[in-house]
Amino acid sequence: MISFYPGPSRIWDETATWVKEACDLGLLSVNHRSKDFAAMLSATTVSLKSTLQIPDEYEIFFTSSATETWEMILQSLPIRASAHYFNGAFGEKWYDYATWLAPKAEAYPFEINEEPVVHFTSADLICITHNETSNATQLSRTFLEKLRKSSEGQLIAVDATSSMAGVSLPWKMADIWYASVQKCFGLPAGLCVVVTSPAAAERAFHLHKSKHYNGFTSAIENARKGQTTHTPNVLGIWLCGKAMEKVKSIIEVEKSLLSRKQIWYDFFISKGWESLIQNPECQSQTVLAVKGEAEWIGKVKSETQKAGFMLGNGYGKWKDTTFRIANFPALQESEHQKLIELLRSL
Ligand SMILES: *Cc1c(COP(=O)(O)O)cnc(C)c1O
Repeated sequence: MISFYPGPSRIWDETATWVKEACDLGLLSVNHRSKDFAAMLSATTVSLKSTLQIPDEYEIFFTSSATETWEMILQSLPIRASAHYFNGAFGEKWYDYATWLAPKAEAYPFEINEEPVVHFTSADLICITHNETSNATQLSRTFLEKLRKSSEGQLIAVDATSSMAGVSLPWKMADIWYASVQKCFGLPAGLCVVVTSPAAAERAFHLHKSKHYNGFTSAIENARKGQTTHTPNVLGIWLCGKAMEKVKSIIEVEKSLLSRKQIWYDFFISKGWESLIQNPECQSQTVLAVKGEAEWIGKVKSETQKAGFMLGNGYGKWKDTTFRIANFPALQESEHQKLIELLRSL
């Protein structure tokens, strides 16, 4: 079965070899305070920075999921309030967490086929979802630039779970970026990459909220020493480094995903299928969603499954009336072509 589900999705074929290599090296038994672990962690950070073109002054640490990171950000960074822009299920869930954890939480919902409007707010943390996996929308670079310009003194945190490692991100337009690896990284779940700006670190150390083991200060302090707060997902970190060594630079990766995206949209048009996101400015580069009657959607999903392809179900309010297709880097050109041929015959 080839999984086109937008996460967890198809993993890199080399994963088994990389796991074996970690076993053979004895890496999975090393102490996480040892030199060997620190060397592996810093090598992974170096590969991430070079492949994804992350600025030198930004730092990286690891958590186990995007969900965990929502919580960590809210416990570590807001002073007065966090402001949340969202148009779908993941962004809204993060906002829900904020109503429990932030001193105050502001919601700025927007429509799926529209760019959000920038709101002037006294919140000191702005939370956005770069690629809303649930409905196949993406925030444009122009919006990120606009938001950055109008948010002096505010930190911007970005859930980039289904775009990091697939889209060339404008890192300096935000202070915290994070992604769990079961989407565009093409890796098994259980690890999340968190990228932080100097301003984010400064805020964290200034507030120094130390009532949670899982805070930003502890994560950043440890990362600077080549360590982690607790015994981490050593295998996950190793695999992340291996995947980043394997893939081409993010510019190349993005180019190939963009051309595949175009092939898919041309195909939908040729079939007269309706994509959920009509406005090209709002379309995701890494997740596609097709809309239709529940019965037809069900048929497409079951026919493709019979042929060995797993499509993504709709999510949240689009559960029965859309299906989703991952356009992630680990899905091969030939697999996309086979799936398109199959769908053409339906
Ligand atoms: C998948 C996803 C999450 C949740 O990731 P976990 O690793 O399960 O915590 C959060 N946000 C977005 C945008 C996602 O696509």
